[in-house]
Amino acid sequence: MTTPLVVGNWKMNMLASEACNLAQSLADLPVEGVDVVIAPPFTSLYAVSQIIKNTRLGLAGQNFHSELKGAYTGEVSLEMLKDVGCKYALIGHSERRQLFGESDAEVNKKVHLAIEMGFNAVICIGETQEQREAGETLKVIETQLCRGLAGLSGESIAHLAVAYEPVWAIGTGLNAAPEQAVEVHKFIRKILFETQGFSVKIGARILYGGSVTPDNCKELLSEEEIDGALVGGASLNFESFYAIIKSALEP
Ligand code: PEP
Repeated sequence: MTTPLVVGNWKMNMLASEACNLAQSLADLPVEGVDVVIAPPFTSLYAVSQIIKNTRLGLAGQNFHSELKGAYTGEVSLEMLKDVGCKYALIGHSERRQLFGESDAEVNKKVHLAIEMGFNAVICIGETQEQREAGETLKVIETQLCRGLAGLSGESIAHLAVAYEPVWAIGTGLNAAPEQAVEVHKFIRKILFETQGFSVKIGARILYGGSVTPDNCKELLSEEEIDGALVGGASLNFESFYAIIKSALEP
């Protein structure tokens, strides 16, 4: 059975002291049976890594530059993320794509780099409201997935998670209905294992993200097709994030 993965994306929230407090509460949890990963802002990564270093909690970078070093003012490299203890990296979050113009080609470069450097890459894909209404959801998913993963070897799948995050559901309070998420998750699995030819035996986890809360997490995470969650707003609060973690443990 696949171990569920729950990732908390703290985005541009929390000062270092707040991030450390929340990390400490999470570090004290007995979280056997679920992989819990947190993605604090860059400025808190090192401090948080010191708090969680002897625990099962994982640390993720929310983003990184696709070059390893150089004159890229304001950017952070994968080596820097590794240096502060990150083993996971989010790639192609819709906010990066929409607000910072990240393309599928850029996402692809980052996925290759992350996997080469031994990270677990979490690639985020999802359709906008207009695309869903135009009946283009699966086409968009296929394009983002195939372009984002182009050229990866079959074994790479062991180091990959795909987060299906409908853009209309992120931060809006409008989560996808379980059957909408399941339809897309099945499609992603089909693309990964049939079209892209990855090995089924070691399959990637497919997460759902988009307004996951303590109220809706149970019905989403109890679906066999949903291997975990990428959580934004509800991961900023211990009680709500813990409720989601628990529901991944006890579907
Ligand atoms: C996200 O940022 O990936 C996300 C899913 O946010 P929220 O849970 O707030 O919708």
